[in-house]
Amino acid sequence: MLRKKVVVIDSHTNSYVSDTGPEASILGNGFEVEVLKVAKPEELVGRLGGVHGIISWHLVPLTTEVIESLDACEVIVRAAVGFDNIDVQTARARGIEVCNVPDYGTEEVADHAMAMLLALARRLKSTDEHVSKGGWNWNAIGNPKRIRGTTLGIVGFGRIGSALSVRAKAFGLDVLFYDPYVASGIEKSFGVRRTESLQELLAGSDWISLHAPLNPATRDLVSAREMQAMKPGAVLINSARGGLVHTPSLIDALDSGQVGAAGLDVVAEEPHIPAPLLLRSNVIISPHSAFYSTDSIGEIRHKSAWNIRRHFARQHLRDRVEANAY
Ligand code: NAD
Repeated sequence: MLRKKVVVIDSHTNSYVSDTGPEASILGNGFEVEVLKVAKPEELVGRLGGVHGIISWHLVPLTTEVIESLDACEVIVRAAVGFDNIDVQTARARGIEVCNVPDYGTEEVADHAMAMLLALARRLKSTDEHVSKGGWNWNAIGNPKRIRGTTLGIVGFGRIGSALSVRAKAFGLDVLFYDPYVASGIEKSFGVRRTESLQELLAGSDWISLHAPLNPATRDLVSAREMQAMKPGAVLINSARGGLVHTPSLIDALDSGQVGAAGLDVVAEEPHIPAPLLLRSNVIISPHSAFYSTDSIGEIRHKSAWNIRRHFARQHLRDRVEANAY
């Protein structure tokens, strides 16, 4: 029997995949799996002949030229949520399936957003700074409010936003969400309240957590006008994409106190962090690490291989992506 050839594309400058154990154990004997480490797309052209499936682990672009060089490939799996490194349109035009792994970090990102909310509510950065400087006064960190009974507004009620709502409700928060695209009734399933506009959510929330994708319609979704619409001192948490927030407006709003604090896992031009965001007791920043745990990384590899296996078993591909999807 001719074995199907699957290549895992990793980067040799920022390498992660050192063996093919997880993929091989899921794909079984009918497949031969190998890792290809490259830095640039040009290095892929001419090296993917006879390859039946690709797992795009690293962000090395699968450009038009790379896709056009494929002679046997039937399926490409992006081992991540975002698939903007793949020319999906060309792949589809050549009859190649493309899918992603949209849910590997749902729990981690929801936990991270909740952790940021709790840390900012309990002012953990300030308490740590206070103790590090030799202090030991319980009231040296201002006037924190009780979390229970405050309102969290979630923008984007997909996998992560809804997972956050479950966590927030356990802490006694009242939860609102704004998402014009999710079906009616999801608010009933989760026991939360839906707002009809972003402005309504902003005006009613003590905490605002962003979980919408970045696309032309959502770039700078939260700008000066939206910050003005918030309750004075409301807290903004962004673990979605930096481009959702207009950074200069956030800095102004933090300076004026209109935004009381911020938790940012993402910034507009990563890894550049504007200096005025650093060294503030009321701003917590993490390096786009919300998705990360040893379990989530294991899950990406596992689910990527399962997508390949399903394709060759002619089973329904759950995570098929569309060329024009955000
Ligand atoms: P999802 O697709 O399940 O949910 C996104 C939701 O946003 C959808 O329900 C969609 O209807 C909604 N939405 C789209 N446009 C909107 C708008 N203008 N206003 C309000 N809602 C809108 O995605 P997810 O898995 O929940 O992930 C959400 C985002 O989190 C991703 O797009 C990604 O950018 C980000 N993310 C970040 C990390 C990280 O490590 N920080 C990891 C994974 C995902």
